[in-house]
Amino acid sequence: MRILIVEDATRLAALLAEALAKHGFASDRAPTLSAANDALAAAAYDAIVLDLGLPDGDGLAWLKRRRSASLPPVLALTARGTLTERVAGLDAGVDDYLTKPFAADEVAARLRALLRRSGPRAAPILSAGPISLDVAARRATVSGATLDLSRRELDLLELLMRRAGAVVSKDAIETALYSFDSEVTPNAVEAIVSRLRKHLDEAGVSGVLHTIRGVGYLLEDRT
Ligand code: CA
Repeated sequence: MRILIVEDATRLAALLAEALAKHGFASDRAPTLSAANDALAAAAYDAIVLDLGLPDGDGLAWLKRRRSASLPPVLALTARGTLTERVAGLDAGVDDYLTKPFAADEVAARLRALLRRSGPRAAPILSAGPISLDVAARRATVSGATLDLSRRELDLLELLMRRAGAVVSKDAIETALYSFDSEVTPNAVEAIVSRLRKHLDEAGVSGVLHTIRGVGYLLEDRT
């Protein structure tokens, strides 16, 4: 799950990113609306956390302009908690609200609820053959036994399961698993794929995660 944090208060944005990471969300930060536009053009996000007062404009007005294009669900962060302002936000296409100050962990809880409500992308249980993944609980099982996966291994498994039966390119994996600002070593994707494959082998699911040389990776869909 990848979140775009649009917030000009640098320290708050960093704390949020840290709290979200603990809950298994990768995030990128945009300090302005124009940076948000760039980020949305460059990557796919599962949700947006949107501050309403940005240096280059008003978050609600931006949202109204952007709503014609399809946007992921939006959780607005605002100091304005009055009823009329909330109604204006809902009209503009805000999916949920959090009034400042708030606990960073609450953002993760709200996002999970939002993603659960937001339709096909948030299918709660994914399955491919004997492998099941509970997206909200961040738990993968093989025939009922829990796999002991790191956060990134789980993110990778989720990505491959969502596209089971199709080849997922190395670039797509890199984009989904790593934020813009994290250092990605050339072999990072290969390394994490081979760790995930090892976990699956150990759980008795061999030969389902294929390397398609020069193209990417494919998880067999044997359901
Ligand atoms: Ca602000």
